[in-house]
Amino acid sequence: MDLSFYNSLTRRVEPLQPLVPGTVRMYTCGPTVYNFAHIGNFRAYMFEDLLRRTLEFAGLKVTHVMNLTDVDDKTIRGSRAAGVPLRDYTATYKKAFFEDVDTLGIERATVYPAATDHVAEMIALVGKLFEKGYAYQAPDKSVYFSVAKDPDYGKLAHLDRSGMRASVRISNDEYAKDDVGDFALWKAWDENDGDVKWDSPWGPGRPGWHIECSAMSAKYLGETFDIHTGGIDNLFPHHENEIAQAECATGKPFVKLWMHCAHLRVNGEKMSKSAGNFFTLRDLLAKGYTGREIRYVLLGGHYRQPLNFAFDALAAARTALARIDEFTVRMEGLAGNAQCAMHNAQCGGAAGSPGGQAPSGAAGSPDGQAPSWPDKHLAAFAAALADDLNSPLAFAAVFALVNEGNRLAQAGSLDAAGAAAALAALKKMDTVLGVLARPAAAIPAQVQSLLDQRAAARQAKNWAESDRLRDAIAALGWTVKDTKDGQRLSKS
Ligand code: AMP
Ligand code: ZN
Repeated sequence: MDLSFYNSLTRRVEPLQPLVPGTVRMYTCGPTVYNFAHIGNFRAYMFEDLLRRTLEFAGLKVTHVMNLTDVDDKTIRGSRAAGVPLRDYTATYKKAFFEDVDTLGIERATVYPAATDHVAEMIALVGKLFEKGYAYQAPDKSVYFSVAKDPDYGKLAHLDRSGMRASVRISNDEYAKDDVGDFALWKAWDENDGDVKWDSPWGPGRPGWHIECSAMSAKYLGETFDIHTGGIDNLFPHHENEIAQAECATGKPFVKLWMHCAHLRVNGEKMSKSAGNFFTLRDLLAKGYTGREIRYVLLGGHYRQPLNFAFDALAAARTALARIDEFTVRMEGLAGNAQCAMHNAQCGGAAGSPGGQAPSGAAGSPDGQAPSWPDKHLAAFAAALADDLNSPLAFAAVFALVNEGNRLAQAGSLDAAGAAAALAALKKMDTVLGVLARPAAAIPAQVQSLLDQRAAARQAKNWAESDRLRDAIAALGWTVKDTKDGQRLSKS
């Protein structure tokens, strides 16, 4: 499966050519943990999840690093206002972030380095820039990167350098494109920082936001790596500055492929804390929407197109997911024991063998013959994602599968193997989308306990006890069947 993605650096769609064949090293700018993330932030993390899962779907081994910004202007301001030490203050929002990530079904990154654990690496990087003549200490004692010394500065944002005012110095972490100028690598301590400070060769202070990512990406992914992602507002100044710092320090290219997602908007305006037009995930859960429905909405638009958030879209997601669930139930009924393809907790899952092979050769299409009808939809799905993560087209392939399966079932021309192949295709698609699997009915603790005892009895070949436990489970309204993958549980 050949993948192509839009590269913000070259402004072209390019084939992905990993630096080390078969693997991808990818870095994502993570949350600033000063508050609950809003669903605009989660649009960015969802796009990165889609990318990561697509790379894995294509058989690539992904190392994914996402930093946690736990020291900057906003975290310090928040902790001081709350009268809580910075570490305790950010710990609350780190925990909330991971809860939200799990609710939305976002795969965990390989590693989540926190900025405050890597200040030594940041100081070393600033030191290197100093040695090479790219950094200087200003009268305010902060250390700045000299943009004039870097002829490549501006290549990501395609800046017109003739308009730059090299004498401008910027100590804020975030600023607009019109404010191009020397940016802070190390911020000298002042009284607004309270007790937040580290010693450095330039006096007490703290790292600038941009140096965090250059230092931590190099530590975990090396000096040159494959993909760097973020929301489009990260492109300038943050990513431009990351490139300048990294490439001036190492003399090597920093990143091959830069990918950015467009904003989640509300009434045409970027969703943001400062505009006050935001919803956190918790706001939407409290209104009765599920993580699955929100995930569906966030994945539904192409990542490079702005996506307008509206409650209508959540209602439409509910209807669409119900249609997929009905289809799954119908196919499971037809497939019978042919295959437990959408193997989830409802099937008992005890043996832990999720299966999940692509349905090649299934449903009456032995190898070498024309692909089965589910395989054709799976191929369309893969082609959509391979073409710069076209998720709307990928969902169209899902619904084409659902429609064709329903039509065949309606006509009475779908056998058990065909239904099993449809389920297997759906399951394979869901390794990327993460929204198609029917949520498992919660298994009551008493039933789960009997199920566990029965697994142990069967292990010990105590068939009489196994039968007794099956009857006990049946008396509670559940049916247990034994398959080659272990016990399969369903509601009677
Ligand atoms: P921040 O915590 O502000 O640094 O943002 C974390 C991530 O969310 C970054 O990748 C931002 O680009 C992204 N982001 C912020 N607001 C939005 C939005 N409305 N839509 C999409 N991405 C956003
Ligand atoms: Zn970053």
